Amino acid sequence: MAYQTIVEDNIDILVAGAGLGGTGAAWEARFWGQNKKIVIAEKANIDRSGAVAQGLYAINCYMGTRFGENNPEDHVRYARMDLMGMVREDLLFDMARHVDSAVHQFEEWGLPLMKDPKKGNYLREGRWQIMIHGESYKPIVAEAAKKSADKVFNRICVTHLLMDESKENRVAGAVGFNVRTGNYHVFKSKTVIVGAGGASNIYKPRSVGEGAGRVWYAPWSSGSAYGLMIEAGAKMTQMENKIVLARFKDGYGPVGAYFLHLKTYTQNCHGEEYESNWFPGLTEMVGKEYLDTENQHFSHKPIPTCLRNHAFISEVNAGRGPIHMVTMEAFQDPHLEEIGWHNFLGMTVGQAVLWAATDVDPKNQNPELTTSEPYVMGSHATGCGAWCSGPEDLSPPEYFWGYNRMTTVEGLFGAGDAVGGTPHAFSSGSFTEGRLAAKAACQYIDDGKANGIRVSEQQIEKRREEIYKPMEHYKVYRNEIVAGSVNPNYINPRQGLDRLQKMMDEYCGGVTVSYMTNEKLLNIGLQKMKLLEEDLEKLGAADIHELLRSWELKHRHLAAESVFHHTLFRKETRWPGYYYRGDAMKLDDENWHVLTVSRRDPKTGEYTMEKAPCYHIVSEKEE
Ligand code: AMP
Repeated sequence: MAYQTIVEDNIDILVAGAGLGGTGAAWEARFWGQNKKIVIAEKANIDRSGAVAQGLYAINCYMGTRFGENNPEDHVRYARMDLMGMVREDLLFDMARHVDSAVHQFEEWGLPLMKDPKKGNYLREGRWQIMIHGESYKPIVAEAAKKSADKVFNRICVTHLLMDESKENRVAGAVGFNVRTGNYHVFKSKTVIVGAGGASNIYKPRSVGEGAGRVWYAPWSSGSAYGLMIEAGAKMTQMENKIVLARFKDGYGPVGAYFLHLKTYTQNCHGEEYESNWFPGLTEMVGKEYLDTENQHFSHKPIPTCLRNHAFISEVNAGRGPIHMVTMEAFQDPHLEEIGWHNFLGMTVGQAVLWAATDVDPKNQNPELTTSEPYVMGSHATGCGAWCSGPEDLSPPEYFWGYNRMTTVEGLFGAGDAVGGTPHAFSSGSFTEGRLAAKAACQYIDDGKANGIRVSEQQIEKRREEIYKPMEHYKVYRNEIVAGSVNPNYINPRQGLDRLQKMMDEYCGGVTVSYMTNEKLLNIGLQKMKLLEEDLEKLGAADIHELLRSWELKHRHLAAESVFHHTLFRKETRWPGYYYRGDAMKLDDENWHVLTVSRRDPKTGEYTMEKAPCYHIVSEKEE
């Protein structure tokens, strides 16, 4: 094949994937590693990549400690409650104590944060959320990362991590290919910080066919953070904790600003409040500790996101859909009307376009909401990701193995969606996590932990062959098409993705089964996943673009398999409204007040599952 091999050697810190997590990593790495070689490999262009590519209207994680608003302990309590107890409090606290400084930095770099002209503090949407003019959020933050890195490789799809051959379970860099030129890229590095993002399109989306691509999370987020780390044998946690979002129908416009700032609320098709009808039954399912509606004051201690979903889903299933967002009251105020539209124009322009195209004026009618397909990610109200070490001053021994945000593979760090057990980090928290990971990675190198790394030509050549195999396969068999795009010798990446999505949807609690699954279904699904894995060896890619889609699919498949194993392992319904285990419909604190940890053996592909303690480090009560 004519593609060149391009080797970048002697890297200290390789940032694989530069969304908000990766940019934070590159920036902080330069601070602690003045003379270190920092390289970024990014699938798109760092100026517009990751989940924040199209902008944001709010920064959802800001303590405001300097204004006396919140402290990090408050945020841990909030996230813990929202996730039904299941978080890594050490990691969360660590992020929360540093996040404000990241936000102040963004402001210094030119991001316009809205301010109260009298008090001088940032304008808030809700207790944790501040409002920004954020269409250009990503380019602004990317500029800092670009100035920090020695080299930025855009358009590189990182497919695999390189492993050290002198010491087992130690990372040695990564490989991938350029999605424009097709060239093979080898990055030999002492450490790798993975910030390659969570996963959309693992589950069959509500919008298919002509609407494909209209999903809530970034459609380009292919779960590569998970795919890369799982393949290398890193332990994962909370992969069953997929998230379902209540959103404006079809455009997936976010609801946070509406609920929190515009004070809009929901109604069923009869114009009735419905949530409270479902709470008594829900309290029976999850216990009073998690939903005590008599004493739970909504604005101060919000109902967990999944439980709000549960009321929504149940009301629709009872035949009283659609659920409407009551916008007609708030939108009579011209200021709030403007904010409502700005909110979409700054981050989900598609929702504004959809409303304009379908004659929906939220001033004159209450728009429909829907619940999305599940997503596998770790920075919104969910905590999927790698099992990482916490900081030395906070973490109990089970959570600490030397370097902050290092996975169980030596020298391999995570940031953003890559790190498990840290929900509610959002953009600012992901950037902060990148910073923390980079600081620890510099220390790891300075401690001599990366000395003596060896990568053979055989390893590099083996990966090269593997990467281009779908194109070779296509070339050999392309003349054997029997009809349309059907070929008995290969499947193309679109066909493979359709198959994966159908499987996840039907067997692992997707939309068409109202998020329901059970042990039997999961076991059947896992069997089918193995068959799909065999067929993925026969992917056919007609061009470099399809090669990209092939590797995205393989990463999604690895992430999905992990979700299956975790969902099977946790025999309870911890998050009603995200998914249901029909054979264990109650939350079971006696047996499952634990974090779930998995490892896929890179040699055999076999999974082992274990329970890890879920420590509560922050006290129950606010002081
Ligand atoms: P979203 O627009 O749904 O992505 O949410 C933005 C922020 O608002 C996140 O911090 C959410 O957790 C929060 N949020 C959204 N809806 C609500 C609600 N009904 N009550 C409390 N917090 C919410």
